[in-house]
Amino acid sequence: MANIFEDATSRLTEILSHLTVSDDIRERLSHPKLALSVSIPVRMDNGKLKVFKGYRVQFDDTRGPCKGGIRFHPHVNLDEVTTLSFWMTIKCAVVGLPFGGAKGGVIVDAKSLSNLELERLSRGYIRAIADVIGPKRDIPAPDMYTNATIMGWMADEYSQIVRQQAPGVITGKPVHLNGSLGRKSATGRGALFTLDQWIKSQNLKPKKLEIAVQGFGNAGYHFAKLAHEAGYKIVAISDSEGGVYAKSGLDPDLIMQHKLSRRQLKADLYCDATVCEDPGYEVLSNQKLLELDVDILALAAKENQITKTNAANINARNIIEIANGPVSSAADSILEAKSINVIPDVLCNAGGVTVSYFEWVQNRAGFYWDEEEVNQRLKTIMDRESNLIFDMANEKNISLRTAAYLHAVKRIAGAIGERGTHEFFQNKLIA
Ligand code: NAD
Repeated sequence: MANIFEDATSRLTEILSHLTVSDDIRERLSHPKLALSVSIPVRMDNGKLKVFKGYRVQFDDTRGPCKGGIRFHPHVNLDEVTTLSFWMTIKCAVVGLPFGGAKGGVIVDAKSLSNLELERLSRGYIRAIADVIGPKRDIPAPDMYTNATIMGWMADEYSQIVRQQAPGVITGKPVHLNGSLGRKSATGRGALFTLDQWIKSQNLKPKKLEIAVQGFGNAGYHFAKLAHEAGYKIVAISDSEGGVYAKSGLDPDLIMQHKLSRRQLKADLYCDATVCEDPGYEVLSNQKLLELDVDILALAAKENQITKTNAANINARNIIEIANGPVSSAADSILEAKSINVIPDVLCNAGGVTVSYFEWVQNRAGFYWDEEEVNQRLKTIMDRESNLIFDMANEKNISLRTAAYLHAVKRIAGAIGERGTHEFFQNKLIA
């Protein structure tokens, strides 16, 4: 099986076949600009020293400073971080943000650390990568198992290193520490804006549509809640422990209250609560949720949920990728043959990085917007870029994913071309 980076860049070959660009662009977009590997010594609570391994990969910065989250997870590896930095490069270009792409990660089971150990690790990671980040260079943000509190510690560590306030070095900070209003719900909200435009382009109405949501964390919960409020019918929701289904529709807030009080949506625990007294509720497995016959399947959990093994069993008419990489490239062609529309992650979940961009803008201006302004500006960007991509897919008769990548690569290729030939001459002279 191809590694995850090869899988991600293999899509590039198909995309570039639709575009007249020089081989230089393909070559440039097949390699990260910088891949930094660091060792982070941390004094543990028991007095012993432990060294953690971390990475920061800057894939491309042609269109602006690099942008991308930091992941704390035991399975972090350089291949994964590089792939995520490639997706960030595409994503920022898809929605026209003046950023390139990056990603960072530390190999750690964050849940096994005490709060103080976690803070020492977070600060240590920033000390290790401080030379390559900065508000005009590379701006990290949260990702899996990192959050606003960790971003606050990291921003503070960076400002101590550079001996000045530098809130624009990191986004996703707590609101009291120069974070932006609206950031928490931005990914789910952005996905809904894109879905609304898609539904409109298909001459459909939200009230008639059933949605199943896989993943009920930050992105999945906010999406489900906002979609429910907008009149869509949320018929199924799952988390890592299992899911629930109700033909008559579920109220995501009620399910969240239940999850918080019971800690999970799991069958036995789920069904002895008040929300389950309605006989219309059923418990279902994650696999069953993916196979439901619904209008929209929202994938908001994690990567590789639909692969060539289960793609043939999918019955939804539309899929929205709120998570990063939930449909593998092998599954793409199977879904396409079944005429299932996939609204790709690089567009669908770009609401998060868009509001991160707003946070960076507000930090640099020192002027902060109210939540309504943040949401309105997000809508303007998501609506505009979604429609450009839908129109391109329609005109060229290509998939929505190919159209989104094409839309992004055109911008990146344009920037590479317009930078001129300076590097070419410089390299020639050195050679
Ligand atoms: P999160 O940790 O808050 O939530 C993840 C959810 O998925 C949890 O409810 C978890 O129980 C569930 N889950 C895990 N495995 C599952 C499985 N096999 N089946 C069903 N549910 C499962 O994470 P998040 O921030 O909501 O991110 C979710 C995805 O969206 C990730 O791929 C992330 O990279 C992507 N994303 C998030 C943001 C953001 O702003 N939060 C932005 C862009 C992309």
